[in-house]
Amino acid sequence: MTFAQLGLPEPVVAALARNSITVPSPIQAKALPDAIAGINVLGRAQTGSGKTLAFGLPMLARLARHTDRPAAKRPRALVLVPTRELAFQVVDSLSPYATALGLTVRAAVGGTPFNKQVDQLRRGVDILVATPGRLGDHMRQNTCVLDSIEITALDEADQMADMGFLPEVREILGQTRSDGQRLLFSATLDREVQSLVRQFLPDHVQHST
Ligand code: AMP
Repeated sequence: MTFAQLGLPEPVVAALARNSITVPSPIQAKALPDAIAGINVLGRAQTGSGKTLAFGLPMLARLARHTDRPAAKRPRALVLVPTRELAFQVVDSLSPYATALGLTVRAAVGGTPFNKQVDQLRRGVDILVATPGRLGDHMRQNTCVLDSIEITALDEADQMADMGFLPEVREILGQTRSDGQRLLFSATLDREVQSLVRQFLPDHVQHST
């Protein structure tokens, strides 16, 4: 199946082709149809499998489908990642395809000035890529409101569990729209990740590479 046949917006398909991404990877071929259809997806996938686009492309498809922008340009899609480095990698990976649709992707991570991030959030961000600690700070200070988040991806959920982030992750997910879609990617599914899945993706389909 091609990216166009998966129902992705044409500008995204063209931008993928410019980056020589023309054939979906195995995890993309399995997860994209369900994720684009709005179903919660649990993906078991390692780094290098193409998992970033497996959750990023459905986000873009969804944002392109529903063009009504929320009040105050609040973010509509959220990616939670365990580390700053991964946050920047995800922003870099998704930016060309978001730009093709006129959407913005920004990181909110620790180690960069809080106030600069607040300015960026105020200007408006469509897809926010965040580490749980920094996003928790923004939530508590009311500098980022998550009530317009309609699709959330958790990347490397097992790493977030190992780093002790799950209480913060639960608090964050609890602030997103209850009718929102969730995509969770993890290399392993230990007990902590399974309990997160039971709470926040009670109905989901599972795909693995
Ligand atoms: P990831 O597993 O998301 O870290 O992706 C690993 C690398 O594979 C990144 O450099 C992607 O740009 C690239 N990639 C992702 N999907 C595809 C694809 N379908 N075809 C070729 N390269 C891809």
